[in-house]
Amino acid sequence: MNVRERFAEVFGRPPEGVWRAPGRINLIGEHTDYNDGLVLPFALPMGVSVAAARRDDGVLEVRSLQAGGETVRVPVAGGSVSGWATYPVGMAWVLHEYGIGGASLLVDSDLPQGAGLSSSAALLCATGLALCDLYGVEVERPELARLAQRAEWDFAGVPSGLMDPSASLLATAGHALMLDCRSGLSSRVPFAPEEAGLTLLAIDTRAGHTLADGGYARRRAECERAAGLLGVAALRDVKDLAGALGSLRDPVLRRRVQHVVTENHRVEAAVGLLRAGAAAELGALLTASHLSLRDQFEVSWPQADAVVDAATRAGARGGRMVGGGFGGSVIVLTAADRAERTRAAVEEAFAARGWAAPAFLAATPSQGARRLA
Ligand code: ADP
Ligand code: MG
Repeated sequence: MNVRERFAEVFGRPPEGVWRAPGRINLIGEHTDYNDGLVLPFALPMGVSVAAARRDDGVLEVRSLQAGGETVRVPVAGGSVSGWATYPVGMAWVLHEYGIGGASLLVDSDLPQGAGLSSSAALLCATGLALCDLYGVEVERPELARLAQRAEWDFAGVPSGLMDPSASLLATAGHALMLDCRSGLSSRVPFAPEEAGLTLLAIDTRAGHTLADGGYARRRAECERAAGLLGVAALRDVKDLAGALGSLRDPVLRRRVQHVVTENHRVEAAVGLLRAGAAAELGALLTASHLSLRDQFEVSWPQADAVVDAATRAGARGGRMVGGGFGGSVIVLTAADRAERTRAAVEEAFAARGWAAPAFLAATPSQGARRLA
């Protein structure tokens, strides 16, 4: 049964429409977002769908086929919720001042949650599009991305960046999106691996985020401290890397600065290669990014290192961990005719160490959020 039919079953009437927003993978540009830097995400084929219909009593009712159980009901004007419902309810609260009213929402998804593929932003963006469309509220997509970020920040209590909702709302098939996290400006960069005889594998290492242990927050604080010592607003502004490294006494801060500054250069280099039609050459940049995240930023984890090592030994062009680190997913770029061999090599490496088998996803750059029906 699809989400439209389930909606009718749950709410006793048909939905007015179905909206869908994809998850994303960041090709390159890791831990650059909160340093006002550059990122290069693309949208996945997998995403979150929301079937929706207006209500005229100012009530928002939400239910998810993945969260089981209860329908959560609150006034759109405000009320208290907890758990997964903070995402759609938070989005509705943010949009309330734009003129949206009550609605019934049923959520369905084929995107793994908490795997670093941005299911939270997909949920926010699908909800936001649905509510805006239902009520004829016109919000430009870059602004809707900012509102989704605000909803996640204010209501779900997660200080997330602009990348996830921007990728979900602005990405197009066959492209990555270069986003400048300071200005919020973005541009589309052609990226269609299959057309170049390449395969981009996304591999969930099945190592959880539980090891994070405050590591992410510590990295952010270190970057802020380094920027302060260097007298710049953000590490993005460091132009003379050698000079900056020479002036920092703390070796940990030197490593953090080294990563952020070189990672921004790698994003620019990746964009240059893609625009030149040289996608295969990205592999070396991906591996360079991984080594920098492993050795300078120190956020990699054993399974991610094993994937990159096994894949490159099997002849892949390169690969890197994606996301904040300490667990999650890895991407590997390989010639299409080596994809199977690469995959087998990664599986063997995991089996040899007694780790849970990794999961492979299709990482085809796909279209952004849209109305389905
Ligand atoms: P990620 O965005 O990497 O998937 P997050 O921790 O940021 O991980 O977001 C995951 C959270 O988003 C889930 O814990 C849940 O609250 C919410 N979420 C995502 N998809 C769904 C869904 N289909 N149904 C209900 N909640 C969802
Ligand atoms: Mg998220």
